[in-house]
Amino acid sequence: MNAREKEFLMKKYRDLRVQYEEHNKAFNTNPSIARIEPFRIADGLYYVGDRKVCIHLIDAGEGLILIDSGYLGATHLLIDSIFRAGFDPKNVRWILHTHGHSDHFGASDEFRSMYGTRLAISRVDAEMIRQKPHYAHVNGNSFPFAKIPEFDYEIEDGEIFEYGNARIRCVLTPGHTQGVLSLFFPVTDCGVRHMAGLFGGAGVKAITLPYICYNEDPEDCPQQMLQSIERIWDEKVTVHLGNHPYNNYTIEKRERQLREGGNPFVDPDSWHSFLSRLQGQVKNVMADNETIKAEMKAFLNESPK
Ligand SMILES: [Zn+2]
Repeated sequence: MNAREKEFLMKKYRDLRVQYEEHNKAFNTNPSIARIEPFRIADGLYYVGDRKVCIHLIDAGEGLILIDSGYLGATHLLIDSIFRAGFDPKNVRWILHTHGHSDHFGASDEFRSMYGTRLAISRVDAEMIRQKPHYAHVNGNSFPFAKIPEFDYEIEDGEIFEYGNARIRCVLTPGHTQGVLSLFFPVTDCGVRHMAGLFGGAGVKAITLPYICYNEDPEDCPQQMLQSIERIWDEKVTVHLGNHPYNNYTIEKRERQLREGGNPFVDPDSWHSFLSRLQGQVKNVMADNETIKAEMKAFLNESPK
């Protein structure tokens, strides 16, 4: 990518950021509009996130683990949800991060300083953020005081993260960031064993050319995401968790559960229907990226230096 191409794509990126900030304005002004009551998904597994970002709590016996911590501005919602789920936030021993974006580690720094919570992330994303802090998207207007926390532990591809009675298998699935971790761990519900699975970074905006340019990511991020989908396709996931609620229809499933009872989160079809949908989205982005490239070429030819 040469300097003029970069300039063209960065302008597009800034326009997209303005749209994004606008889209998030109501939430940033009053995060409680995204609040939902926490609820149980399976034995020892709870939803303590909001309508914007998923946060899961695992009761590991000797302490609690959170998977991600949401936006900085919603920290109070998370703390409230942990209490309402019947736990004490001071017992959160670990926060395991799916990837290094600020909407997934917003509350982590405060948990670390208030409760001594240790923070874990993939080694790859830890390194990406060390090399280029803008990679974490903490420099928006929404939360001017957001900062990257210090991470206490860096996870390798394929590692089993063990704490208390929790054993969480972490698989590197790059695309959304270079260090996305997808997580797999056994749970039980009504005496039946299940495999919980979470694809750790499914937003396709990050693999559009303007974002790739800003992040200084490899241009083949979309192909990486397709390979990541292949990589975890055969996982026998029967309790599909979201990274954002729209991944697994968290909110709709919870509403159905409140209406009809049962446990809609135990659903052997959800994993593959999500992954197929995601494949389609990635292919659309790949086509859009080609359109942007053509547009860029035409623009740069029409306005030579
Ligand atoms: Zn992200």
